[in-house]
Amino acid sequence: MTKEQYKFLLSEHDLPKQWYNINADMPVPATPVLNPQTKEPITPEFLNVLFPMSLIEQEMSTDRYIDIPEEVREIYKLWRPTPLMRARRLEKALGTPAHIYYKNEGASISGSHKTNTAVAQAYYNKIDGTRSLTTETGAGQWGSALAIACKFFDMHLEVFMVRGSYRDKPYRRIIIQNYDADIYPSPSAKTDYGRKFLAENPESPGSLGIAISEAVETAVKSDGEKKYSLGSVLNHVLLHQTVIGQECLKQMEMADEYPDVVIGCVGGGSNFGGIAFPFLHENIKGGRTTRLVAVEPRATPSLTKGLYAFDYGDTAKMAPILKMFTLGHDFIPAPIHAGGLRYHGMAPQICMLFDAGYIEAVAVPQPDTFEAGVLFAQTEGIIPAPESSHAIRVAIDEALDAKEKGEERVILFNLSGHGLLDLSAYDSYHQGHLIDDSLEVSPEDIKPRLPVVNF
Ligand SMILES: *Cc1c(COP(=O)(O)O)cnc(C)c1O
Repeated sequence: MTKEQYKFLLSEHDLPKQWYNINADMPVPATPVLNPQTKEPITPEFLNVLFPMSLIEQEMSTDRYIDIPEEVREIYKLWRPTPLMRARRLEKALGTPAHIYYKNEGASISGSHKTNTAVAQAYYNKIDGTRSLTTETGAGQWGSALAIACKFFDMHLEVFMVRGSYRDKPYRRIIIQNYDADIYPSPSAKTDYGRKFLAENPESPGSLGIAISEAVETAVKSDGEKKYSLGSVLNHVLLHQTVIGQECLKQMEMADEYPDVVIGCVGGGSNFGGIAFPFLHENIKGGRTTRLVAVEPRATPSLTKGLYAFDYGDTAKMAPILKMFTLGHDFIPAPIHAGGLRYHGMAPQICMLFDAGYIEAVAVPQPDTFEAGVLFAQTEGIIPAPESSHAIRVAIDEALDAKEKGEERVILFNLSGHGLLDLSAYDSYHQGHLIDDSLEVSPEDIKPRLPVVNF
């Protein structure tokens, strides 16, 4: 290794051949997934209304490694392996002895990590005979990623986009339309649930929970024509994202270092799980002691303020019930710019590990994340997604803490996406127009809205 190396690049040959399944090494028993109508453990037949059998098998699998199909690897090669970068200029600006590394998932064809699972999900749907997919999107990153993937596999796509984002972020809507997907602002008049919600509250900015309900309803009522695709939260989604952490393990080796702390922002938990699980495997099986830190917005503090309970995955109570740290399925978060982090719950795998003490969580206020994102842009040159800036904030805080303690701490964070389509958010930051995202939620607010389930 040369002294001033910045980039740690792998060749296409190093692209992982398998995904890593944390279920094989889960240190605590898995929590059940329940049918939203019966509140009994879910059956593959119920799930098959929404998902193809191959993905349901992955969802339930306890095999440690699952082969990545060659067709998926070929598409991954359009942007993978992504670079691991040493943020030397950020280190200098902070005057820290810490070594800061970041994995640049913003280098993907859609600009975020979400294409890692979009391509896999489109592939499995295609080979299982699905003709058309439905989905929701918050800020539009997931919709863009799935629109590209569906185009590659010649499938139709319908996207329900959270109305606030549809209104404020026209560019992602245009991207989605560029790949021939149909896109509707949610709540929409396309579904029973959307119409009901619009009647109650025509001004609703929408939420991910509502948009999920509309996409699920569309698939359920299609007589098997359409399946539903989710961009985060579920086991198979986190599984597909583990290419990130597996590449990082090789790249940290090239840098001749090993992270003391791995950081990722969490909306539903997929980019964090993707970078963290391969390192957790090293902790559990290899005796390493890397700290794994999930960062959430103060406006949706599910891990840090939510209740660990069974809750619906969506607002209309149509999606499966999952045991999650949740703010309640009808929680509508403040319209912060990190749209991809505005979800009431969290991936059950992340929740189990957080509850058992294997990962840490911290909630950060929106202005602090923009301050961090702008410093990152001014030093490293890349404008980060507002979601990713949550991870940057905590990476910077770790570096400053290391400085105070005089430690050469090795910090790795996931740059889950670039922010070139989030410039209006930066504009409101520069003009001092960020909304107040301080939030008081109490267990008494959340509890009455949870389903009563005895497990
Ligand atoms: C969607 C998104 C997130 C949040 O989703 P996770 O499933 O928690 O990873 C984070 N960053 C970016 C750039 C996103 O697009």
